[in-house]
Amino acid sequence: MEATLTFLGTGTSMGVPTLGCDCTVCTSADLRNRRTRPSLRLAYNNHIVLVDTGPDFHAQALRENVRHVDAVLYTHGHADHILGFDDLRPLSFQLPGGLPLYADDETASTIERIFDYTFRDKDRYPTSARVQIHRIDETPGAGFDLFGACFQRIPVTHGVQTITGYRFGSAAYLTDMSDIPPESVPLLQDLDILILDALRRQPHPSHSHLERSLGFVEQLKPKRAFFTHISHDLDHVVTEAELPPNVQLAYDGLQLTFEIAG
Ligand SMILES: [Zn+2]
Ligand SMILES: [Zn+2]
Ligand SMILES: [Zn+2]
Repeated sequence: MEATLTFLGTGTSMGVPTLGCDCTVCTSADLRNRRTRPSLRLAYNNHIVLVDTGPDFHAQALRENVRHVDAVLYTHGHADHILGFDDLRPLSFQLPGGLPLYADDETASTIERIFDYTFRDKDRYPTSARVQIHRIDETPGAGFDLFGACFQRIPVTHGVQTITGYRFGSAAYLTDMSDIPPESVPLLQDLDILILDALRRQPHPSHSHLERSLGFVEQLKPKRAFFTHISHDLDHVVTEAELPPNVQLAYDGLQLTFEIAG
């Protein structure tokens, strides 16, 4: 079954342009240097699945004509990945049973705490999102089925935390990661598409940088790799000219097709 993946956003937590910055990337006319907070849309089998809803979700949904969502998967509870949650409200009202969300236990607890008016039994805000949070099995290699495709949690190291990457069919999405633990390496074999964090040129304590991410690509050998969660350190054209032919910088609105099942 073929799926279409759209990068809703490819920027780091501060976004690009970064507020108050006049560097060449932040002032660039190249639209690929305008990076909203990181998130994906997957379309397959007449269903729409999102990975993360950051603070730019409303604008991204308008830009990409997201009119319906069937499920949302979360990677972790940082602001740049969850703060668009409330913009799911009108879309959640379309679904009779509510919108299913999938997250690991720590992320689910963070969402429940920040958006507590949505989840409380008593005095629930009447027009809050109609959602059901499903806590995913955190055993490495465990997966769950969504609309005919299997989603596997891929644990990745993000600074001092372990967060959730996802594999779905022949593609994997590892945003926000500084390292790939040994138990995740076997889960990332035979990929057509590997999407991974490449923040900037210099090392960073919680994010992989360009050279390190190229090392992961060499180790895991996907057919193609796309870097995301990019800061204003990396100009699109300048950086792409330095990359091997099977590696690209993702940009907002970029679409890819791949096999998601069978
Ligand atoms: Zn992030
Ligand atoms: Zn800048
Ligand atoms: Zn993060």
